[in-house]
Amino acid sequence: MILRVGHLYPEYLNIYADRGNIAVFRARARARGHELDVRAISIGDGVPVGEVDLLYVGGGQDREQALVALDLATKADALREAVGGGAAFLAVCGGYQLLGRFYRDRAGVELPGIGLLPLHTIAGERRMIGDVLLSCDWAGRTLAGFENHAGRTYLDDGAEPLGRVLAGFGNDGKSGYEGCRTGRVYGTYLHGPLLPRNGWFADRVLADALAHATGEEVELEPLADKLEAEAHAVAAERARRRGGRF
Ligand code: GLN
Repeated sequence: MILRVGHLYPEYLNIYADRGNIAVFRARARARGHELDVRAISIGDGVPVGEVDLLYVGGGQDREQALVALDLATKADALREAVGGGAAFLAVCGGYQLLGRFYRDRAGVELPGIGLLPLHTIAGERRMIGDVLLSCDWAGRTLAGFENHAGRTYLDDGAEPLGRVLAGFGNDGKSGYEGCRTGRVYGTYLHGPLLPRNGWFADRVLADALAHATGEEVELEPLADKLEAEAHAVAAERARRRGGRF
């Protein structure tokens, strides 16, 4: 199978090696005999609705978010249609914030979001930086990563978080939750990049993308993931030791 990936703003939103998540998707798809066809979707580009199985966007500083936000707003309808048609979507940090209704930065400037996720974000004084460990009760698994954000993200009532914070700040440093998920759309503050040390989650998103490509729900046979499990354990231990402290 050729999986069609739309990578939004790769040259603007790519900090903490977020682009590395694409490499993990490619390696784990290839391990099951599938290939990725990755195309960049950037400023002025159209969204090939119905021709992408997986959308991805990384994180970025306020400056980079401001450079893409207005263009992203022009793609809102097409992205909603693509997701409505069953495409999977993984968004990290600054990209995650712009999938909500808006991101208001520390200067009070409000960047429009596309309203794909039921949330909004307001930057606070102190950045929330450090290792993070989440419990994803919906999958019976944990996620380990790294966060660095000024934004405090507030989920609407009834919105599903990606995980419960075991260590770290998470969405707002208070709610005890991190990220947001709805259907095949996943948003998170976790950098690192996220996927090398969280193979199960990469497979979750890949299975959603394959379901879009094939029209059938897909169960991926697990990989050995020895190195991935060790990397996860190290990150989890680091988060427990020092996550969530200013
Ligand atoms: N600029 C946003 C914030 O500070 C997102 C940062 C990021 O992507 N790491 O909250």
